[in-house]
Amino acid sequence: MSNAPLPQGWERIAPAYPLDCICWRLRVGGEMLQFDAGTGLGPLPVSIPDRLFLTHGHADHSGGAARLQAAGAQVVAGAQTATWLAAGDEAAISLDRARRAGLYPRTYRLAALATPASIMRPGERRQFGPATVECIVTTGHSADHMSFLVETPDSRALVAGDALFAGGTVVLQDAWDSTVPETCRTIERIAALAPDHILPGHGPVMSGTDASRAIELALARVARFLPPLPFL
Ligand SMILES: [Zn+2]
Repeated sequence: MSNAPLPQGWERIAPAYPLDCICWRLRVGGEMLQFDAGTGLGPLPVSIPDRLFLTHGHADHSGGAARLQAAGAQVVAGAQTATWLAAGDEAAISLDRARRAGLYPRTYRLAALATPASIMRPGERRQFGPATVECIVTTGHSADHMSFLVETPDSRALVAGDALFAGGTVVLQDAWDSTVPETCRTIERIAALAPDHILPGHGPVMSGTDASRAIELALARVARFLPPLPFL
């Protein structure tokens, strides 16, 4: 695990359950923003965020959203993710497949959101005190994948979910909505953003030259008509 310093004001929430993604928190403008929820299989966090942004519907990122919403968090997601979570649609997020593959306990189920998420459109920006959160389309790992570019006076950080990992790697799965072409377009979009920091859903943070190096390595593969190398 990299010991790269986090951008100012950011906190990494260690997985509360082994399957959980990394969740990220930023306290800004008098609010606690959290990005991704984990599976919901671990204990509920002591402090409940005011806003919960979801990168995509996969259960290791969104499974815990319903109970955080019940505890008071406002859930914010892309339209596709919001629709699937409102319906508790396990096939759409490939939870049925993942459970059969033994990735989740057999009794694990997706808890649907009781109230629809606030839908954030691609390119939409929301202001929280001095911070701006912009929704970026980063499909490819899944059809609903969004990342969030968070700009503060101190940093430009991309909360990238499962769109790009350390070393310029990606996760393509045998899922209905995981595609090479979309993954490659997403790498190009992230490269155009040139964030100072990339906060991924798994593995080390990428800061400064680590972030630009990850983007360069992924782009080099895309330039050769190939997907980036696998994270796993
Ligand atoms: Zn995922």
